Parts: sequence; structure tokens; C-alpha cells
Amino acid sequence: MKSQQTKIIAESLLFTPGPTPTPEFIRQAMSQPTFHHRTPEFETIFANARQNLMDLIGMPEVLMVASSGTGAMETCITNFSTRKILSINSGKFGERFGAIGRALGREVIEIVNEWDTPANAQEVLDLLKVNPDIECVCFQICESAGGLSHPYKEIAHTIKQYNSNIFVVADAITAMGVEKIEISNIDALIGGSQKAFMLPPGLAIIGLSGYALQHIESHSSGYYFNLSKELKNQRKNTTAYTATTSIIIGLQAYFEMLVKNGLHFEDIYYYSANIANATRQALQALNLQIYPKVPANSMSVVIGENTKDIIKILKMQYKVNLAGGQDRLKDKIFRINHMGYIPLHEISFVLNAIELTLQTMNIRSFDGVANRVFFENITLSN
Ligand SMILES: *Cc1c(COP(=O)(O)O)cnc(C)c1O
Repeated sequence: MKSQQTKIIAESLLFTPGPTPTPEFIRQAMSQPTFHHRTPEFETIFANARQNLMDLIGMPEVLMVASSGTGAMETCITNFSTRKILSINSGKFGERFGAIGRALGREVIEIVNEWDTPANAQEVLDLLKVNPDIECVCFQICESAGGLSHPYKEIAHTIKQYNSNIFVVADAITAMGVEKIEISNIDALIGGSQKAFMLPPGLAIIGLSGYALQHIESHSSGYYFNLSKELKNQRKNTTAYTATTSIIIGLQAYFEMLVKNGLHFEDIYYYSANIANATRQALQALNLQIYPKVPANSMSVVIGENTKDIIKILKMQYKVNLAGGQDRLKDKIFRINHMGYIPLHEISFVLNAIELTLQTMNIRSFDGVANRVFFENITLSN
């Protein structure tokens, strides 16, 4: 008799730290017939999404631009520097700020660290002192290459104490909507649709300080990524060029979902922190090693000899998609996403699959510890 195999037709679980899965309520909202972007209907949605973003990040102004996150990084360098920037590079995304600066003809001073190592405020200050012409300092709140968290509050505070004219540009693409961001010394805060907002890629968000606004109002730079032009338009709830209408409709659906479920931003932050902590406790109970010295809550990152095989077995056997590492971390790490509102049963399934995989690989026999530790560390309220 011919042996049969179960053909799995179920969707696999997407657990990569961006793009994150887009839930059904958002997909439905975005499937409504297309609006023209210059209509009162769309302007109302735009105004609401704009207000909700300002409430979320707590800055006096926010702009939405049609591009992936990198476009917003480039925009900030174009608009907040003309000659020289300082960039903190503890990974692929920090490296990108430097690369953008050089591509735009800026002189780039860089702090380069291992990808598990956050920068510190003192080294930033030391460099500012020997480079008094630095106009703008760029860094990540969470560097997604290794899942680390920089001490951004101290860094931003130190910069502004030293010279309040320096622009502080923070890439919060994997922090916005994940954790409460202390914005008091930040001039531009960058977000992206495809991470914690659970939207398709294509919308970038830039929160702006009063100081940044003052500058933008009096300096026009760039063409497509011209923040002065966008500011004038978006204050009237329209955009300089065609808006990403469907993603903005999806974004507004995200905010409405929170209200409908009685969720405040603090609840999302608490949930993300709780699942990140519980996941890391569970991974450590499996004797897996957490990679970054200071992990961010947007993802958990494990380093090890066998991570490439673990990723492969998880995908083939359990239909779980984790992300590996890039460049120097290729085949050395795996990354589990915590952004967006991920159901507990999905994370529980992923952890169980990891534990089963370790048994398959003869690394450790299965005893259910991952799920036990995970749930011991989850603190649910009603
Ligand atoms: C995802 C991500 C980006 C944006 O990358 P795009 O591919 O341009 O959207 C930027 N910074 C960080 C830290 C990210 O995680």
C-alpha cells in the first residue's frame, strides 16, 4: 500500500520581527472600495489616524510618509543636517544611518559596537566634544539586528545638555507601539507600519519636537521627502503626494480596535514586556542563550551553534517561521517577534515547537519546561 503523508494546508506562523502578520480585522478594513485621497471621507480618516499617532507618541506633530522605514531615516538626515552627523552603529540598522549619510554627501562620525552591545552616553559626549560641528545624532531605540536596547534616554539627555541645537533623531521602528518612549530629548521619532502596527509595509511615521518644527518651518530641503511641504499639507489633513490610503485606513482600524477592546497604550506596553520576559525565561529554561546584553521587548534573540538547524526544523516540521541573522550574525542567531498583539497560544506553540526541535536534535529531552516556565511568568489580568 502506498504510504500517505499529511499535507499541511494551514498557514504557517509568521514570527519574524517585521513584517508582522496583519490580522483579519485590519485586512478587512483595508479591503473596502478605494477612496480617492483628496476627499472629505479620506481626510477624516487621515485626521483621526494623525491624532491617534500624536496621542501614542506624545509629540506636538506627526507626519506620515509613503515609504518603508528607511525612507523616513533618509528624510531625517536630509532635513536635519547639511554637513556632518554622528551615527550609533550596533547593527544593520545603525549601519544604515551611516550609509545614508555618506550617500547624501554628509561627513559621518560613527560609534561602532559589536551587535550585542549598546552604546553609552559618555562615548557620544566625547565625540561631540571633539567634533563641535556635528548637527545631528542618529540612533535606534531598539537595534533589530541583534534585538538590543540602547540607553537612549541617557544618550538623548546627554546630547541636549551638551548642546540643545543638535538634532536628536531616533529610529523607533521596532519600539513605537511596543514600549513607552521617553520623547523629551528627541526631535524626530521614526516609526513604520509593518512592525507593531501589524500593517503591510509602506507607511513611515515621523514624530517631531517643537525644535524640529521650528527648523522645518524655516528650512525647506529635498523634493519628495520635503518635510516643510508635508507639514503644510498634513496640518490640513492631506499629503503633498498620493497618500498610502489603504494602509492609513488599516492604521485607523488598529486604533479603533484598541478602543473597542478597552485597551490603552499602557496595556499594549505591559503585554509586550510580559510576553518578552516570559519568552526569554522559557528559552533560558531550555539552556538557550539570549544574545544581546540588554534585550529590547520587541523580539527575543538566541545565539548558538545550532540556530540554523533549529530554524530549518521549525519551518519544515512545525510551520513556524522565525528570522535568522544577517551579515555577521548569519546562521548564528534566531529572532522571535513580540511586536503586535500576538495571541498567547501562538507563542506557546512556538516555544513548544522549539523544545520538541531540541529533542529531535538530541540536544535535550522534552519535559514541557518551556511552556511551564512561559505560563508561570505570564501575569494576566481580567
Ligand atoms: C524594520 C526596521 C527598519 C525599516 O526598514 P525598512 O525595510 O525600510 O522598512 C528600520 N529600522 C529598524 C530598527 C527596523 O527594525
